[in-house]
Amino acid sequence: EQRLEIKNQTHNEIVDLALACNHMADQLEKVDSSRQQFVSNVSHELKTPLSSIKVLSESILLQEEVPKEMYVEFLHDINSEIDRMSAIINDLLTLVKLDQKEIPLNFAETDLNKVMEDIIKRMTPLAAAKQIQIHYSKEKEVLAEADEMKLTLAISNLVDNAIKYTPEGGNVTVVLDADHQNAFITVTDTGIGIPEDEINRIFERFYRVDKTRDRETGGTGLGLSITYATVMMHNGSIKVNSKEEEGTSIQMRIPLHQNS
Ligand code: ADP
Repeated sequence: EQRLEIKNQTHNEIVDLALACNHMADQLEKVDSSRQQFVSNVSHELKTPLSSIKVLSESILLQEEVPKEMYVEFLHDINSEIDRMSAIINDLLTLVKLDQKEIPLNFAETDLNKVMEDIIKRMTPLAAAKQIQIHYSKEKEVLAEADEMKLTLAISNLVDNAIKYTPEGGNVTVVLDADHQNAFITVTDTGIGIPEDEINRIFERFYRVDKTRDRETGGTGLGLSITYATVMMHNGSIKVNSKEEEGTSIQMRIPLHQNS
């Protein structure tokens, strides 16, 4: 009887082990396929500007006599495509660095009000070019344990999007608040909004609601992935409220203290 029990126990352990192996294989397959998807997205995103550069330069090379205005116009277009490729590569490098979790964040006591004021000062000319007003209000002084540079980039992406996806004459409102445990940064715009069924996807790498429109706005589709990864590394969270044609509000929660 004892032998039977041991046999049963061993059998159960083997079943558990087999299940665990299956589960691990599934997980690995998922990671692998999302990696493949990522590489294929990167290639596609870089190929598009590269093809434009090829077409533009070839059409100049193939003409016998090129009028000066055409040269200037085509070179201008080539230059913008190169800028686009640089923007994609810069964002990718940032993401890769964030992914390498072994590089620790540089946590230090950070004055979030100063961070917000700096960001808004930097973004104001961008907004002014579209007659968009940025309103900033802080409920209190907030000190948080954060990586100032990375957090600045993460918040800048939100403000940058708010300006990009808001038509001329709109408003962007930024609020800094905190309770005993968390800082809350909310960026609200009166822009085009995000369709309800796409709200969950905007943090995905390269995801853009409207590819053609967003190409015109110069987006890479990586900004919010960078923001998301940064917020996660600060052990925070992020939530989105949005209504098409009315606007979007994104709130970031960052713990004031990191307990590690
Ligand atoms: P992008 O570089 O294209 O702006 P992001 O990762 O920053 O990429 O954002 C992903 C997509 O989410 C954008 O392409 C846009 O479609 C949508 N989005 C982000 N922020 C806003 C916003 N404030 N209003 C409307 N749509 C937004």
